Amino acid sequence: MTYFEQHAFNPDRFRRNGHRLVDLLASFLEGSVDRKPAEVLRQIDPEKMLDLWEGAFQDAPTADLFSLIERVLAQSNNLQHPRYIGHQCCTPLPTAALVDLVGTLLNNGSAVYEMGPVNVAMERRLVSWMAGLIGYDTRSDGVFTNGGTVGNLTALLVARGQAVDYDIWKTGYDRTQPLGVLVSQQCHYSVTRAIGVMGLGEAAVYSVPVDDAYQMTQKGLSSTYERVLRDGRQPFAVVGNGCATATGRYDDLNRLADFAEHHQLWFHVDGAHGASALLSPRYRHLLAGVHRADSIVWDAHKMLMIPALATAVIFKNGAHSFEAFSQRASYLFSGEPQEEWYNYAHRTMECTKSMMGLKLYVPLKVYGVGLFQRFIEHTFDLTEQFADMIAAASDFELAVRPQSNIICFRYTPVGAVDLNGLQRRIRQALLRRGRFYIVQTKLNQELYLRCTIINPNTQVVDLTELLKEIRHLGTQGPTPAPADQTYL
Ligand SMILES: *Cc1c(COP(=O)(O)O)cnc(C)c1O
Repeated sequence: MTYFEQHAFNPDRFRRNGHRLVDLLASFLEGSVDRKPAEVLRQIDPEKMLDLWEGAFQDAPTADLFSLIERVLAQSNNLQHPRYIGHQCCTPLPTAALVDLVGTLLNNGSAVYEMGPVNVAMERRLVSWMAGLIGYDTRSDGVFTNGGTVGNLTALLVARGQAVDYDIWKTGYDRTQPLGVLVSQQCHYSVTRAIGVMGLGEAAVYSVPVDDAYQMTQKGLSSTYERVLRDGRQPFAVVGNGCATATGRYDDLNRLADFAEHHQLWFHVDGAHGASALLSPRYRHLLAGVHRADSIVWDAHKMLMIPALATAVIFKNGAHSFEAFSQRASYLFSGEPQEEWYNYAHRTMECTKSMMGLKLYVPLKVYGVGLFQRFIEHTFDLTEQFADMIAAASDFELAVRPQSNIICFRYTPVGAVDLNGLQRRIRQALLRRGRFYIVQTKLNQELYLRCTIINPNTQVVDLTELLKEIRHLGTQGPTPAPADQTYL
């Protein structure tokens, strides 16, 4: 037996540790689903957390796997807990975590076909399936990438390349012919960041005003378009939300498609969170017109219960999928890129990628699409119910009716003076108690509490309890942290 086999690559030890680890995680899951741990998170100050994780790495082993993992579980945010109603980070399917284990052990980085043949084929099948749901025909094509942020950048790079009549990859951006992009006032920051990364400058970002429904208006689109022209810039793209991160509201995609067609703009839909609604016959109308988009980004790690990260960026005209990055690395690629659909590195920001396709493909096959449809409908329906509860309560106020599983509201008891301060204090107190995890967002300069109902085990009772807890904390002074401050 080699040194390495004896110490680190020992199959017997892997088997024993694996069984024990799965037992540990299964107990964690069991307790979480039953709401056994009172806390969803342990709020620990960053400096304190740093102290808890010693920074010296010795030559010899200093820790035991299981004591470390138990500490990790105790100090991490528990997304398996039904009272995690915070960010758009999904409760991953336990099976997807197992599949991810396979992908990590295999570690077939999928830059080119040779490196990860199975995953490359799976990603191709997934892109076609997703394109079909969007309503694209067989000319469409796309790739998987690490997150919606990189996905939005990829799509906008193509849009920019289409707009200029010179090889921008070769010569760089010609500042004498400045460009402009129309984005929603409610767009995700990754969209404006992409414009920054592309070197177009902040002045290239044109925010289109939204109405009470948080949709870009016809008037807003037209006047913003005029403004881009008046500034001597060439508008080249309009980016719509399907749906917006802060409010979960969908743009009117047909309106945007009409507008983009009329002005010959690239139409990109940021469907990172909301494109999964396409799986539901009851909710897919929210994305009516999406098939008219030139490109779309769709995260599987938001509303398809897949652990981070797995994002599809899909183009109506598949040829565009090869245009974002036109560098060549001769040691990787053999022939004409268009013929090499299976060498994804032509088309992605990344070189090595994890086996992203694997962890979506397998659960889709093992559970069937029905499970995912039910999940979308359960979370969207429950959010609707939560909105009814809030609307019926005289001491709460909705920011806007939710369209998806994201909802913004605030506590407005009679006589409250500083409403923004109140919401901030309530959320801080909630986090200190740790029994719920929710977030906050600013809309029209006002602070709102914000929930994403993304755990399939969240029930009405959790939401009733949340409102009770908010009332309780809203009428109290500062709350002390929970008594148990041992972090293992
Ligand atoms: C989450 C989100 C993103 C960013 O995607 P990541 O996968 O986190 O990089 C972009 N746009 C919208 C609308 C989102 O909700």
